Amino acid sequence: MKYILFLSPCFKKRIWGGDYFQKVMNKTDSKEPIGEMWSASGHPKGDSLISNGRFQGKTLREIYENNPEFFNYPKSKVFPILIKLIATADDLSIQVHPNDDYAIKNENGLGKTEAWIIIEAKEDAEIIYGHNAKSKEELINLIGNNKYDEFLNRVKVNKGDFYPIPAGTIHALGKGIILLEVQQSSDITYRIYDYNRKDKDGNTRELHIDKAIDVTTYDKTNNFKPLNYLQSEKDEIELWDNNYFKINLLKVNSKYKLPSFEYYGIISVIEGKFIIEGRTLSIGDSFVAPNLAEDLFLTGDGRIVITIPKES
Ligand code: ZN
Repeated sequence: MKYILFLSPCFKKRIWGGDYFQKVMNKTDSKEPIGEMWSASGHPKGDSLISNGRFQGKTLREIYENNPEFFNYPKSKVFPILIKLIATADDLSIQVHPNDDYAIKNENGLGKTEAWIIIEAKEDAEIIYGHNAKSKEELINLIGNNKYDEFLNRVKVNKGDFYPIPAGTIHALGKGIILLEVQQSSDITYRIYDYNRKDKDGNTRELHIDKAIDVTTYDKTNNFKPLNYLQSEKDEIELWDNNYFKINLLKVNSKYKLPSFEYYGIISVIEGKFIIEGRTLSIGDSFVAPNLAEDLFLTGDGRIVITIPKES
């Protein structure tokens, strides 16, 4: 029998994190700064625990690998998506991720294309989104001379913005942002610049400038205008359809019947409260819905994100 897999998140200590998950969300009592809640993950560094049904207590990775029938026999060998709720209290390092080809060849892992759905942003919140170097030579020169302010594309972000971050895009979150991140299940990050920050033991974090230069792309991101879901008049918006996943954002008023999936889908709450199968879900919570035999309904008001992995 198929049913929803409810997931218990795990929390990640980060140098740029704060107390949002402790004080505002009341989800953890960690004394350390927390930056990320891994909401749906089959990644070995933060595997989600199933919290209901016959798989209760097992990890999403175990179920995905040992019970492929539950997911309608997907093609991907590993659970391909990682979904996080992120809250920044400081600027993140400036970074770039490799694509699959480069990651498989050099890191024995997957590449990382990711997407940012901005849920809250302070008045002056900013991100780095791309750069304006025109060639590899120019990029090497600008990085070598520490001219970050000259070539990085710094933009103000607003609540409701959606930013697609294909592998190869230089990017960084600034402080004061809460977002849902949907990404390929990978943690390969090449750090270009970390503001010369030191941790409590006085250590700086490793930089990976040569690899970063290898994988950076030169697409124009300078005049990019993000889609803003709060300004859309539609209740259902397709945010992005790429080679790895499709993301839809839905505004729900009182009741919503889950769609049928070819393989499975991941549903994440980004606003409001919902009840399904007797569980109450709020911001950041995710569950996996298989291609269901029976009708299932979410009740409540708010917004949800549906992520559908590309399994073929
Ligand atoms: Zn990233």
